[in-house]
Amino acid sequence: MNIECQCCGLVLSVLLLVLYSARKQLGLYGERIFKYMLVVTIALLSLDILSVVGISRQDTWSPFLVMGICKAYIATLVVECMFAVVYLFHDVMDEHKHWKVTKWLGVIVALECLVIMIVPLEIYSNGRVVYTYGPGAIVAYACCAIDFVTILVTAFSERKKISTLRWSAFMIWVLLWIVAAGWQFLDAEKLLVGFATSLGMMILYAALENPEVNLNNELGCFNGYALEAYLKQQFSLNRKFFAIQFSLEEIPPETEDYIYRLMQRSNARDGIWFFKLLGPEFIMISEDRKRYNRMIRWILKEQKRESAYFKNIQGLGIENGLDVGSPAKLTKVFKYFFNKYNGQIPESEIEITRDKIDDYLVHERMQEEINQALAEDRVEVFYQPIYSVLSKKFESAEALVRIRRTDGSLIYPSDFIPVAEETGTIVALGERVFVKTCQFIAGGKIQKAGVRCVDVNLSVLQCEQVDLSNRLSKIMDENNVPSSAINLEITETATLSVKKNLLNNMGSLMDMGCTFSLDDFGKGESNLMYIVEMPVSVVKMDYDLTKAFGKMDRAKYVVRTVVQMAHEMGLRVVSEGVEDASELQALQNIGVDYIQGYYFSKPIPADEFLKFVEEKNS
Ligand code: C2E
Ligand code: MG
Ligand code: MG
Repeated sequence: MNIECQCCGLVLSVLLLVLYSARKQLGLYGERIFKYMLVVTIALLSLDILSVVGISRQDTWSPFLVMGICKAYIATLVVECMFAVVYLFHDVMDEHKHWKVTKWLGVIVALECLVIMIVPLEIYSNGRVVYTYGPGAIVAYACCAIDFVTILVTAFSERKKISTLRWSAFMIWVLLWIVAAGWQFLDAEKLLVGFATSLGMMILYAALENPEVNLNNELGCFNGYALEAYLKQQFSLNRKFFAIQFSLEEIPPETEDYIYRLMQRSNARDGIWFFKLLGPEFIMISEDRKRYNRMIRWILKEQKRESAYFKNIQGLGIENGLDVGSPAKLTKVFKYFFNKYNGQIPESEIEITRDKIDDYLVHERMQEEINQALAEDRVEVFYQPIYSVLSKKFESAEALVRIRRTDGSLIYPSDFIPVAEETGTIVALGERVFVKTCQFIAGGKIQKAGVRCVDVNLSVLQCEQVDLSNRLSKIMDENNVPSSAINLEITETATLSVKKNLLNNMGSLMDMGCTFSLDDFGKGESNLMYIVEMPVSVVKMDYDLTKAFGKMDRAKYVVRTVVQMAHEMGLRVVSEGVEDASELQALQNIGVDYIQGYYFSKPIPADEFLKFVEEKNS
């Protein structure tokens, strides 16, 4: 009997199924398709072997039984081919659509099988070699051929949607089938199709379906690839899930431990999945509220316990993962909130609710707006005149950034500077402001109107740049702007490393002729040491201090002392936020050198500013 190949194929397929089922799985839709395909392959090979045995024993077996087995075999062949189509379609459409298409394909394949069962089938046997032929076989081969054409057309037309690895593995499988079928067609004694199918399944398993690919070797839980696949499925099926991200600096060695045991066990059957990301990050996902709550409680408990293994356990939960909008955003949302809380997550904030996700989305949209504004040159610089009490002229100005929306309206710094600082775009934005300010000064018109210099704000991130002074001096050179026309405003920073870089930068820039102001003095947790350490020549008293000065007696003593102290240190003082004549008068009386505020002017566009100073200073 010519059944050696089929027997080998059967053993191979059963082995694959055992291996596949024994492994931890995510329970994904794609995994299920592959598993069913394996089961059909085993059925196909079993029926193949059984039909050969049946034909050889025609004299002893009932002819109905033999014919039934032979027809069942070729019908299974058609089902197997249809499964190949279903398997490939999963790569090119989302799960929701795929399930709909699969149902229709199921109807078609049922009709095909019915036809095969009805039309006659011939059996050939010369005692040693057996096979089937005739109308039934032709119908089956025709159905398979249609499936193969569908597969090839889809594979080539949707090439971009399929990863190269998947595409190549699938093509090898198809090629194996075609070679086997062709060979069998030319030499009917060689029953190779069944074997080729099982060989193909092995290739798919090794290249695409090996569950090990989704596992973290060290811990036995799932990895980042698995998370990607799992999230893709949940979003396309719109299936709610709870997610927790936590970081563990060290994994506990004892297998007794709750979390360790959970990680090892977690799989589709338990309804809990652990994914190990890069570094100390983990994501736990469950579709079960109770499990999610239990994990949140566990994180809180470990945080309080400050246990030895979980040196730095920090966790955040999302009540409905679908709220984040897309698979890629889940880790982004977590990252955003981890950074925001900076390792100190209060118990009350442990859950990222819908509202908070909305905050994040606003933040993300603003970031996109900033990037676009930079790319499309919609970053504008406004100038706010600064009045000198001594000369009674507007001797300087502060450059203040704005973003012009595409509809012409403005976005103010309070809305985008915090976002730009968080994401680091402030460096590019700050540089753009500096370039524009230099271009404005370069015309020489404002100097003619009596403006000595323009203040440009530097953010902490810019100050941290080792090459800041080189970059700024290059821009000044390119625009032919003398350094003395630039005054840079810095704010307080507590970080020692930033301070070191900042001092180096300040040194080089001051050698060139730039001056520095200490901005926002008196705001928040001002540290007097800062003014001692930083070689600034101007102190800018914050808006709040200016306001308090007009209202509270105690603030008067502070402001008066600050002015006196600054003068004794050889520094000049600017008051920000002066809005009316009484404030102006009072501040002038105690010796403030410069006044900046809405009383004189709000920040205005470059051309308006030029007109303003030309008129007022003349
Ligand atoms: P700042 O550097 O302290 O700038 C002064 C802010 O106070 C400006 O707000 C100005 O419009 C506002 N202001 C001035 N006088 C008055 C007044 O009389 N009443 C009131 N209510 N406000 C007054 P703006 O332009 O919204 O900027 C806010 C902050 O954004 C700035 O505070 C600065 O920290 C930051 N910023 C603005 N432009 C830049 C920039 O180019 N780079 C960096 N790094 N930060 C910038
Ligand atoms: Mg400023
Ligand atoms: Mg200020």
